[in-house]
Amino acid sequence: MTKDQALIFELSREGRTGHSLPDMDVEAPAVEDLLPGKFKRKEPAELPQVSELQLVRHYTALSRRNHGVDSGFYPLGSCTMKYNPKVNEDAARLPGFAHLHPYQPEEQIQGALELMYSLQQSLEAVTGMDQVTLQPAAGAHGEWTGLMLIRAYHEANGDHGRTKVIVPDSAHGTNPASAVVAGFEAVTVRSTEEGLVDLEHLRELAGSDTAALMLTNPNTLGLFERQIVEMADIIHEAGGKLYYDGANSNAILGMTRPGDMGFDVVHLNLHKTFTTPHGGGGPGSGPVGVKQDLVPYLPAPVIRKAQHGYTFHYDIPETIGRVKPFYGNFGINVRAYTYIRTMGPEGLRQVSRQAVLNANYMLRRLEPHFDTPYTQHCKHEFVLSGKRQKKLGVRTLDIAKRLLDFGYHPPTIYFPVNVEECLMIEPTETESKETLDEFCDAMIQIAQEAESNPEIVQDAPHTTVVGRMDETTAARKPVLRWEKRETVST
Ligand SMILES: *Cc1c(COP(=O)(O)O)cnc(C)c1O
Repeated sequence: MTKDQALIFELSREGRTGHSLPDMDVEAPAVEDLLPGKFKRKEPAELPQVSELQLVRHYTALSRRNHGVDSGFYPLGSCTMKYNPKVNEDAARLPGFAHLHPYQPEEQIQGALELMYSLQQSLEAVTGMDQVTLQPAAGAHGEWTGLMLIRAYHEANGDHGRTKVIVPDSAHGTNPASAVVAGFEAVTVRSTEEGLVDLEHLRELAGSDTAALMLTNPNTLGLFERQIVEMADIIHEAGGKLYYDGANSNAILGMTRPGDMGFDVVHLNLHKTFTTPHGGGGPGSGPVGVKQDLVPYLPAPVIRKAQHGYTFHYDIPETIGRVKPFYGNFGINVRAYTYIRTMGPEGLRQVSRQAVLNANYMLRRLEPHFDTPYTQHCKHEFVLSGKRQKKLGVRTLDIAKRLLDFGYHPPTIYFPVNVEECLMIEPTETESKETLDEFCDAMIQIAQEAESNPEIVQDAPHTTVVGRMDETTAARKPVLRWEKRETVST
């Protein structure tokens, strides 16, 4: 083990410190007076004792092992790992925003309220919805909120038998999960060979027990559902609502709007489409927009613009209630607002053009070397199948691991589940042609290695700090705590 890889505990030497504080010139209260005995440890905590320099080197070394959008290409499908402009960060750190307290009275936070109100309006314009709430704290949270709104709508109409939410087999895993958490049964609608929703099957499923159809368009295979208007008619005629998963909206900004396609509810992931650094579990923001007939159920409070300024409005008789303490993740609102304002309408349209162009360029360059289950033009992302390589003994997981040797974050793999040995690639609009070409060159080299030298792919990665891991054990039995023992049992 090199020094670089040692745990901070292993660097520890008795008596070494990383701080130098002046002596106390007041008498310290006894610890016993501050903390009742039952809360105290029997033994002092075993903390590492290291110098400031050791500590700085330790964390700097750890940070270099991370891969982020700022360090390299990150084509993780359905995650929209695009570049997040630093001006967003500057805006979020302005003291007037960063130092706000959620209990401050409304008259002191008029700027923040105006920003939120204005952001809502922008998102309404982008999605074609009548009103947006910024409360939900993630995409999945937005899905759940949207489904609770649909539930409230049906219940208010005395329509108590709508227990089912229809979800395509290519859907993001959070869709059926949110449906179940919101108290519905998730029913799967098949895709055709073309990768689009099977309309005949949808007709069979839609009925008086349908609460909603959850869909994203372009779908998770990166394909545009051309028959969306027919689908909307089928669901609406059955008395259900249409839910739009807008987590990755960078193919449609300024091009088309869920509201115009017939959707009644939509969530957006500000942390994906509207540039907040994400990954690693948060924070996120999943605003929800609705058409007029669902407005009465929106989470309270809603922001209103009155003559004397902006106010929080709590008196909403049919609200589903609050879905988040306070008002949502405000820092992400500031970033999204800054992004939308700096891009402008034409800039957002350009985002879509570029995202779609980049994905199609890569699809066509990789097409000769990998199986492509869907050959039509894609939108912001596309899927390949590693079926051909699997016959040579190289699995999609091996290809993903080999990509690490080239310094790339691998694409999403084995998802959507309806594509065998799936690789799902989302380049995003912010990457240069040179980067796209270098990545394609690496993919093509790996495809050639699978034929000529499969071991090098099967045993990858070769250049990373840790080699191939037992991912099942890592997921099932994670050891996250350091304990002073010679061996950690697995
Ligand atoms: C990322 C994503 C989600 C979930 O968003 P979170 O913020 O991670 O909860 C839902 N749907 C799609 C299509 C996504 O890509």
